[in-house]
Amino acid sequence: MALQTGLEILQAAQAGKYGVGAFNTDNLETTLAIIEAAEETRSPILLAITAGALKYSSKRIVDIAMAEAKNATVPVAVHLDHGESFEICMWCIRNGFTSIMIDKSHEDEATNIRETRRVVDAASAVGVSVEAEIGRLVELGAEVIISEENATLTTADEAERFMAAAGADTLAIAVGTAHGPNKGRGRPEINHERIAEIAARVSQPLVMHGASSIPQDVVARVIEAGGVLKDAVGIHDDDITQAIANGMCKVNVGTDLRIASTAGVRELLRDKPEIIDLRKILEPARNEMRRVIIKKMNLLQSSGKA
Ligand SMILES: [Zn+2]
Repeated sequence: MALQTGLEILQAAQAGKYGVGAFNTDNLETTLAIIEAAEETRSPILLAITAGALKYSSKRIVDIAMAEAKNATVPVAVHLDHGESFEICMWCIRNGFTSIMIDKSHEDEATNIRETRRVVDAASAVGVSVEAEIGRLVELGAEVIISEENATLTTADEAERFMAAAGADTLAIAVGTAHGPNKGRGRPEINHERIAEIAARVSQPLVMHGASSIPQDVVARVIEAGGVLKDAVGIHDDDITQAIANGMCKVNVGTDLRIASTAGVRELLRDKPEIIDLRKILEPARNEMRRVIIKKMNLLQSSGKA
């Protein structure tokens, strides 16, 4: 029961009108924090692994994620986040992933449809669900990858057209969120009308990337302990709740875990400079991540749904 496809988990969320978190993991401590939080709150989850995480530790991070997912007492999908090619998607399928994302949102629509269709045809033959994306999220941070001017919100027309042609199981849309710790100035504006409009035209579960809250109390602790986080702003809790009410099913969270773990490690090293045991140094990282994940699960209302 524990290892499920992304679609199985998200269809249940769609029917139950709650959100499910997809939490990015890069290492053992993060994976354990995510699984522990899911079991504590009885939440279904997606354990999300990026190409960057695979580059960092290759198949080892997958082996840990697969073992944890199989042993978990809640539904878990092992998910490829932002798969950039057919090849990496196939590699993940061969290594047990139950959910993959093919992201050709930076290409023109015809290329996006063609490349997504190719992955969908292969993945559906072996029962693995596929997330695709159309639209373009803002990406600010230390260096601007996609400026606010070059970001484009997904339209209902293109979402409907894309899903009919590409056949993906779930769809990531751009509605005002952003990747990384800098999601805009002030409170980032989420286009809730657009979410509702797309949900009315696309029957598949919708996905929200770049949805970290960037809790300001945790940001303050990082800065207090010597870190640098300039203009860190996240998505307001009310916007997450509203987005789920309008049909958003999968909510991606990565940066919140980075900020929480950094706060824990920075404070420990500042307060206990004599510690040289890496387990003791990483313990607060794991605890801080578990704390923010549980908070997020309660916000998404996935708690108690497993
Ligand atoms: Zn993303």
